[in-house]
Amino acid sequence: MKRYQMYIDGEWVDASNGSFFETANPYTGKPWASIPRGNAVDADRAVSAARRAFKGNDWASLTPSQRGHLLRRLGDLIAENAEHLAEVEVTDNGKLINEMLFQLRYIPQWYYYYGGLADKIEGAVIPIDKPQTFNFTRREPLGVCVGITPWNSPLLLLAYKVAPALAAGNTFVVKPSEFTSASTLEFARLVDQAGFPKGVFNVVTGYGAEIGEPLVNHPDVAKIAFTGSEVTGQRIAEAAARSFKKVTLELGGKSPNIVFDDAEIDNAVNGVISGIFAATGQTCIAGSRLLVHRKIHDEFLEKVVARARTARMGNPLETTTQVGPVTTPPQYEKILQYIDVAKKEGAHCLLGGRAADREECGDGWFVEPTIFSGVNNSMRIAQEEVFGPVLACIPFEDEDEALAIANDSRYGLAAGVWTQDVRRMLRLSAGLQAGTVWVNTYRVISYMSPLGGYKSSGIGRENGLGAIDNYLQTKSVMIGLADNVANPFIMR
Ligand code: NAD
Repeated sequence: MKRYQMYIDGEWVDASNGSFFETANPYTGKPWASIPRGNAVDADRAVSAARRAFKGNDWASLTPSQRGHLLRRLGDLIAENAEHLAEVEVTDNGKLINEMLFQLRYIPQWYYYYGGLADKIEGAVIPIDKPQTFNFTRREPLGVCVGITPWNSPLLLLAYKVAPALAAGNTFVVKPSEFTSASTLEFARLVDQAGFPKGVFNVVTGYGAEIGEPLVNHPDVAKIAFTGSEVTGQRIAEAAARSFKKVTLELGGKSPNIVFDDAEIDNAVNGVISGIFAATGQTCIAGSRLLVHRKIHDEFLEKVVARARTARMGNPLETTTQVGPVTTPPQYEKILQYIDVAKKEGAHCLLGGRAADREECGDGWFVEPTIFSGVNNSMRIAQEEVFGPVLACIPFEDEDEALAIANDSRYGLAAGVWTQDVRRMLRLSAGLQAGTVWVNTYRVISYMSPLGGYKSSGIGRENGLGAIDNYLQTKSVMIGLADNVANPFIMR
């Protein structure tokens, strides 16, 4: 068993009370590493270290260009260590090796992009309407920022947060999910190697209630960047509100993938399959509701089912595997329960609908790729996030109905549209209540493009130029230029 330690103030440490827990490999179902079980004392140690680093000369006196250089060096180190990080993530999370290698060769871009932005953070000189006053703005870092990440894509979702936070001059504490902490701890080695001053970046591990909450409630934390479930997001927003901490929340989704009768069918099939079965459906942006024009409904579903039926399941470390295990036992149970709910609600199971008992799935937590037709948008399977390889298919008559069904959701993270009609593309990109609309493509994510949710899918946007503002505050400075300050009792 591998034994991990936390990374606080540039040191590798155990939890203050020596506790740890085991993390399991979703393919074998067996524990493979132990992780420190941190608590409020550890949260305080990490925040205090980050606070000292924020005030300390080693970090504060770096020029913005020097900060940018450190981030770019970190990006290089991630690229150099992509294979190792990928293997750790596959072992801990069950993600496919192909997906992880692709992801890790792309993640450095976040560090290059925000590293490049570090020395382009500028204030403004404002020609205000008071001729005797010189007004300019300073854009200042917030202080200690906390990142709390979920289990489905730890390093990517961390990059969305830590790269702009450090570029802006903040210091950072991250708490990864208790199910997948290993890759973030491995990442900390690279931060150390890149030469960031002690305490600028810290990793604490453990359970949400035991160390997540103390971090969120810590008085010296200025900002929380959270990705995870809606329920935890609500708790964090409530806690943050009590001390007016800034928050960004990236939460769940129930994204519609809408296929019109003029779509290029083979492309749409690929988009629908990757939308729901990539990462075993465990992505916030999963296209989990398939809306299909009634005219092509049966033919289209037949193609989707035929394609999904051939998906190879098995060992995620093998490059030929196409659908891997579910990451955690509770998630595995939850997916199977939703499958039961869908059957009881009267949805028609076209494919899967059960746990996988294929030989190549070993003792892992595998669920068969599952497709339900005859779904009504008011059913739970259409309204609630399953976070697994389960597709709910709903027919529609025309564009108005498709839009109404798509928007009839408390979520609004993403949407897909498959059509060749340019005017329809534009109408729907305006009408869909979603933070991202993909037309004739799906799951495209870039460090340069904002990502975030409408409605219950979250608050704020990550990625793109604007995301640096999540980690800055603006100070307005006014300098009086008059020779004499006016008599305060005479109003002009
Ligand atoms: P989760 O909310 O259970 O946990 C997320 C993180 O919050 C974990 O690190 C957990 O330990 C921590 N946490 C739990 N309770 C806490 C508390 N009271 N205070 C502080 N921290 C606490 O989510 P999950 O099951 O790990 O992830 C799946 C969810 O994440 C899904 O709903 C999915 O849609 C969402 N997600 C969203 C995006 C996005 O960009 N919108 C991306 C990936 C995942």
